Amino acid sequence: ESQLNPSYNFENFLEGDSNRLARNAGIAVANKPGGTSFNPLLIFGGVGLGKTHLAHAIGVDIKDKYPEKTVLYISAEKFTQQYIDSVKKNNRNDFIHFYQIIDVLIIDDVQFLSGKTGTQDVFFHIFNHLHQNGKQVVLTSDKAPVDMQDIEQRLLSRFKWGLSAELQTPDFETRVSILRNKLYRDGVEMPEDIVEYVAKHIKSNVRELEGAIISLIAQSSFNKKEITINLAKDIVEKFVRNTKREVSIDYIQKVVSDYFQMDVSTLQSKTRKRHIVQARQLAMFFAKKYTKASLASIGSQIGQRDHATVLHACKTVDNLSSTDKQFRKYVEDLSKKLSL
Ligand code: ADP
Ligand code: MG
Repeated sequence: ESQLNPSYNFENFLEGDSNRLARNAGIAVANKPGGTSFNPLLIFGGVGLGKTHLAHAIGVDIKDKYPEKTVLYISAEKFTQQYIDSVKKNNRNDFIHFYQIIDVLIIDDVQFLSGKTGTQDVFFHIFNHLHQNGKQVVLTSDKAPVDMQDIEQRLLSRFKWGLSAELQTPDFETRVSILRNKLYRDGVEMPEDIVEYVAKHIKSNVRELEGAIISLIAQSSFNKKEITINLAKDIVEKFVRNTKREVSIDYIQKVVSDYFQMDVSTLQSKTRKRHIVQARQLAMFFAKKYTKASLASIGSQIGQRDHATVLHACKTVDNLSSTDKQFRKYVEDLSKKLSL
């Protein structure tokens, strides 16, 4: 059982600037599994941008071209569960052996392995065995390797051996194509201005984009409502309101500086005065918590620091809030001010 879903294939994964590198690297890997320098191929990006779709498409295409190869798709969560079960049942070696004889191993959402040292360890050995034997590994993650936390260094360095390709948010043209293609496949007609309205307003998640169109189709076919711009507006609003609004890093810096009665420029400055350092660390901590920005991007926006400084700040805030009562109060007050 390969666990592959044939409805996720390359033909219905529409190409755009946002996914060209990842999609074409996937095609290259599918043409020559284990035979390109993209090993492992790591596809990363935010939720709903097509990681799972692309992961399946690679496997489906390989199975098509090389029916004799064993291809396995599995989520990191399920992999972890299987590993834990094997330890309980005393057949850890069978588990390892099962994975070592696969030709193409596709693991979805590897960020799930963070903090799970036992599973990371066993995966490290499986990975090495497959890689040494020229077998293909494909991974997906919600973050780039540099931004992954609580994953062992030796595993992270392996993740970087091949190619890391990002799935970005699709531009307007690509969003329109995705919607048109979906309507076409479902045999549904929809006025062009409605399609464009939906594509214009739902920007950051392809799953939501499709969800809005599916709602529209359902409203028109089950409730016999005419598809009008007003109906589209209602539906789009529900989708946009349900997705948590993201605060900006600028806004976080403003709130933190106001709270400590300093200027944003002071917060960003190079000074080592303790209360200013703490304010800066809190801003970094909340930027990590409330935005999707990478550590590197947070650092560059908060006074030109590097990603290691941001990581250190997040750990310091975690530590201080469990040991220092006054500091914990800062964190609680700021959380309230920042929550929407
Ligand atoms: P992720 O795993 O990154 O959260 P998914 O792979 O589950 O995202 O994709 C969410 C939905 O969006 C799926 O239905 C998928 O088919 C669709 N999708 C994403 N990107 C594209 C694309 N470029 N073309 C067509 N459909 C896409
Ligand atoms: Mg997914």
